[in-house]
Amino acid sequence: MKKILVGTHNQGKFKEISYLISKKFNKISPKALKIPSPKETGKTFKSNSLLKVNFFSKFVDYPVISDDSGLCIKSLKGKPGIYSARLAKDHGGFQNAMKHILKKLKKEKNRSAVFVCSLSFKMPKKKPISVIGKINGSISNRILGKKGFGYDPIFIPKSSPITFGQMSKLKKMRMDHRFIAFKKLKKKIKTL
Ligand code: IMP
Repeated sequence: MKKILVGTHNQGKFKEISYLISKKFNKISPKALKIPSPKETGKTFKSNSLLKVNFFSKFVDYPVISDDSGLCIKSLKGKPGIYSARLAKDHGGFQNAMKHILKKLKKEKNRSAVFVCSLSFKMPKKKPISVIGKINGSISNRILGKKGFGYDPIFIPKSSPITFGQMSKLKKMRMDHRFIAFKKLKKKIKTL
């Protein structure tokens, strides 16, 4: 069976990306190979996903896919954006980070937000390929739902009455920013 390294230490992302990739691939995690995470020093989603795919590719001789993603909130000038994971770390977890966001938006009328995902794919000895996926939506007034991961319980995708955290995992995985990015990637790499 062909192998692919799904370059992320985030369990939620690993499950989503693995679900999207063809069953023909055996999805390997960096954790299983005891590969650490690289430092995310990029200034954009794209530069961070490229940095990750290039880093993980040094450890294996088969294809690697990595993403960099985050939640950009309009009234917070696009924050937390590429710092979405770090915001949770700084607040001691996602529950506190979501509470922090809700507090900041308490009197805010504009609750528009967008989830962004840059997905990068690399074959051994080839240049990486990157695509971007986005899904527009808004920030809920409360933390709603226990499904999904990360900021799912405060993000209401456009055209939905409920948050990602209230949706079935399957429904969320078939519409989110990662799914949109993956569809673009699949057009370029048919075997995925
Ligand atoms: P990074 O890409 O490793 O820098 O992490 C991105 C951060 O955004 C993580 O904390 C994720 O949990 C969060 N994030 C990315 N995509 C999603 C999503 O689909 N749902 C909820 N949170 C997400």
